[in-house]
Amino acid sequence: MKLLDEILQHNEEFVKEKKYEAYSTTKFPNKRMVIVTCMDTRLTELLPKALNIGNGDVKLVKNAGALVSHPFGSIMRSILVAVYQLQADEVLVIGHHDCGMAGMKADEMIENMKERGIKEETLEMLTYSGINVTKWLKGFQDVSESVSHSVEMIKKHPLLAKDIPVHGLVIDPDTGKLDLVIDGYKEEL
Ligand SMILES: [Zn+2]
Repeated sequence: MKLLDEILQHNEEFVKEKKYEAYSTTKFPNKRMVIVTCMDTRLTELLPKALNIGNGDVKLVKNAGALVSHPFGSIMRSILVAVYQLQADEVLVIGHHDCGMAGMKADEMIENMKERGIKEETLEMLTYSGINVTKWLKGFQDVSESVSHSVEMIKKHPLLAKDIPVHGLVIDPDTGKLDLVIDGYKEEL
């Protein structure tokens, strides 16, 4: 059975048997925070368990690397929506050890694209349009530094209310252990 069919079949039963009832909640986070973290598969269940977060507790924003790389990109917009529209009062950026974005080489990924049929001309056209694909795809070297950079980007954002603490943490994808990088209650950026 194809993956999508499997999902749809499961879904039909899920709804029919009213399994959703256990997850009933509202769009407002009980714990009044927004978490920016990585899309890593190891964190899907581990991170909520390790932080004692259940359905309805937090706003969770995910991308590759838990990166806030652009002040007016969709991650920053999500944070602002969480704060101004959905009652989040704190922001947590949680990177993790052994992240796929750590040491990611853009050149290697571009080679993979070419092998999958992306043409050199397409890449050249993007370069001429002012898009630096290599820079855009570049990962980070050090996860703590990357988390600090994202925290700073959020904290210094001109549209973020100044009384919102922004914390930075790194999680172990095997044990769920958290290391504090930036305590947003103390930090004066
Ligand atoms: Zn990651």
